[in-house]
Amino acid sequence: MKDEYRHKGLRRKMLEDLRVIGIVNEEVLDAINRVPRHFFLSSAFEQFAYQNKAFQIGAGQTISKPHTVARQTELLDLQSGQKVLEIGTGSGFQCAVLCAMGYKVYSIERQRLLFDKAGPLLASMGFKPQLFYGDGYKGKAAFAPFDGIIVTCGATEVPEALLNQLAIGGKLVIPVGDGEMQWMYTFERTGEKEFNRQKHGEFAFVPMLAERAKGE
Ligand code: SAH
Repeated sequence: MKDEYRHKGLRRKMLEDLRVIGIVNEEVLDAINRVPRHFFLSSAFEQFAYQNKAFQIGAGQTISKPHTVARQTELLDLQSGQKVLEIGTGSGFQCAVLCAMGYKVYSIERQRLLFDKAGPLLASMGFKPQLFYGDGYKGKAAFAPFDGIIVTCGATEVPEALLNQLAIGGKLVIPVGDGEMQWMYTFERTGEKEFNRQKHGEFAFVPMLAERAKGE
C-alpha cells in the first residue's frame, strides 16, 4: 500500500473539512494527517477514504468517521507519553492516531478477524501499541491505571471496571445509548469515588458487546 501525492491532497482537504465542523486541536489534526486512512480500508473504498464516512471493515463492524476519531481524541486531552486504553481496536485507525499523538497505547478487540489484521498493519506503519484479543467491558486491570480510556463502540451503560481503571485526573470518553445514536460522555476521575461527568454531542457507533465474539 502506498501513500501517494493524491492521498496527501485528499487528506489535507479532509483536515479542512474537520476544522469547518469544529475540530480545533491542531495536534490532533496533525496526528490524523500522519495516518493514511486508506491503509485501513479495503481497496474498494480507497477513493472514499478521506470522506467523513464510516465503512465496513469486516465481521459486521465499521471504521469510525474521521470526525468521530478527531473528536474523541480531542476529548481525551492527553499529553505525549501518557497511557491510554482503547476499547474496540477495529481497523486500527483510531489506535494509530493515538500512537501518532505519542501516547502509550493499549487496545482491546473482541473480534478475532479484526484483532489478527490490526497488529501487522500497525506494525508495518511503525506503530507499537499493545493489542489484546478480549472483552473490553473488563478493561485491562494488569496495566491500570490509565490516564485515558476511549470506548469506540456504543455502550448501553458505563462499565464499572473502566471507571475503576482510571488514574485520578484521568478521563473516560464513552458513547452511551441503546438506540442507533449515542451521546458522547466524558467521566473525569476527580477522586477515589468522584467523577465529573460531561455530555458532548450525538454520534453513531456499532454496539459494545459482551465477551469475545463466537462466530458472529
Ligand atoms: N476504533 C475502531 C472502531 C471500530 S468499530 C476503528 O478505528 O476502526 C468498534 C469496534 O469495537 C468493533 O471492532 C467491535 O468488534 C469492537 N467491540 C465491541 N464490543 C467490544 C468489547 N466488549 N470489547 C472489545 N471490543 C469490542
